[in-house]
Amino acid sequence: MTDQHLTAIVWFRRDLRLADNPALTAALQSAEAIIPLFIDDRDSDEHWRQGAASDWWLHHSLTALDQSIADRGATLVVRQGDAQSVLTQLIDETGATAVYWNRLYESFAIQRDTAIKQQLTEAGVAVESHNGSLLIEPWDVKTKTETPYRVFTPFWREAQKRLALSTPLPVPDQIEGVDGVASDGIDSLDLLPKIRWDAGLEATWTPGEAGAAERAAAFVAEPVRHYDERRDVPGVEGVSRLSPHLHWGEISARALYQDIVARHGTDDEGSKIYRTELGWREFSHHILFHYPETSDQPMNAKYAAFPWRENADELIHAWQRGRTGIPIVDAGMRQLWQTGWMHNRVRMIVASLLVKNIRAHWLHGARWFWDTLVDADLPANSMGWQWAAGSGADAAPYFRIFNPITQGEKFDKQGDYVRTYVPELARLPDKFLHKPWELPGDIAADIGFAIGKDYPRPVVDLSVTRKEALDALQTLKEAS
Ligand code: FAD
Repeated sequence: MTDQHLTAIVWFRRDLRLADNPALTAALQSAEAIIPLFIDDRDSDEHWRQGAASDWWLHHSLTALDQSIADRGATLVVRQGDAQSVLTQLIDETGATAVYWNRLYESFAIQRDTAIKQQLTEAGVAVESHNGSLLIEPWDVKTKTETPYRVFTPFWREAQKRLALSTPLPVPDQIEGVDGVASDGIDSLDLLPKIRWDAGLEATWTPGEAGAAERAAAFVAEPVRHYDERRDVPGVEGVSRLSPHLHWGEISARALYQDIVARHGTDDEGSKIYRTELGWREFSHHILFHYPETSDQPMNAKYAAFPWRENADELIHAWQRGRTGIPIVDAGMRQLWQTGWMHNRVRMIVASLLVKNIRAHWLHGARWFWDTLVDADLPANSMGWQWAAGSGADAAPYFRIFNPITQGEKFDKQGDYVRTYVPELARLPDKFLHKPWELPGDIAADIGFAIGKDYPRPVVDLSVTRKEALDALQTLKEAS
């Protein structure tokens, strides 16, 4: 857009940053003054309404953005309600003639934004949208037969040839704002929990652009080079923990990717594998954009007939609370509850237990993660759960059922992770840490540990339920 505007609105959504923000930069270039706006329209997606941990994050991230904007001379306007009505009202109040935003890719957001764009354009208001989130937009990569990809490796090979990389845009020194525009204020959004369960989140995270930049700088300086060796070990700091920052757009994926290449080149093994993980993020957006029903329906239709266990409520509850009696699973579920995040290896293990051994529908898991993860992200979460269930894109074959004991022994050999999150097992020798029910009576007596009292016995028999899961799969095969 080359038009010049007196006043433009910059609608912040999941791009809560000033650096490398294409919509903000474009607005500042074309308007004399801007109104930075955040709309709380959480009710617009009733189906996947934002969860409690995400609300917590949003409160703090908005507070940080508010401060950064104030430091540059303008004011973040916060309003609640239906996005279209809020924008129309604000345009009426201020005479703004343009609206800028960075694109979102979930189907409900696309429908909302398309309707808004049409209505505003008809009303003579200029609308401009940008890519502020992805290395490559979902429609920019296709197979030779012009279809979307369903398998990661060819997707990423092709995507890498076309990445939308360019010099990151600078943080503006000054933002010319508009005085006197009414704002509801961040506190009025009521994003913080009434009963304060968020102490663990407070202790773990610094939401906002500065927190994201600090975490990224520390990780990119050196740990990224060891990512290949450490990323599967939940007891060490081997991964970036940038997922909530990336989800909320507090850091630009493009700037992060380029920073890694600039520092470590394209051949460094650790950073190459890390960049591939950013590729999985792209792939999850590609899948959900092209197959929007996969947030709720199995991508592989035959799984719709899968015989999930009925009356699994008690087992699901034990899983949610980290009381399954399987140490690595309980450690993961408690890490999630306490910090709002879980290590990827452990996400795969807990998901496998839920969908295969407990045989609860994967949506039970997806919804629990949705409420409790600070990085809850519809593309990544849907893909992760469908992968675990065996029904998704590039999914694990159903017969590959994780054994959480051997997974624990392999990836948490010294038990650092389990001992951190399941302290009642801390005294057990390494040999029995991942199977406390096998602890010999004399050792149990010595250390004063009683299975069934100090820690639950497993809520499922792993080998019996493994067989049941395989039998259930067989019924699917026979039906198809
Ligand atoms: P790192 O290992 O440091 O990776 C860097 C970044 O790459 C991540 O921040 C993330 O943005 C991206 N990434 C890595 N792996 C994946 C992946 N498999 N899919 C998509 N993006 C990926 N990730 C979410 O961001 N939100 C979710 O709601 C989510 N739900 C999941 C549910 C299940 C059942 C599973 C198995 C995985 C899920 N993941 C989800 C993917 C992955 O577990 C997290 O992205 C990762 O653990 C975040 O930690 P990190 O930032 O340290 O990752």
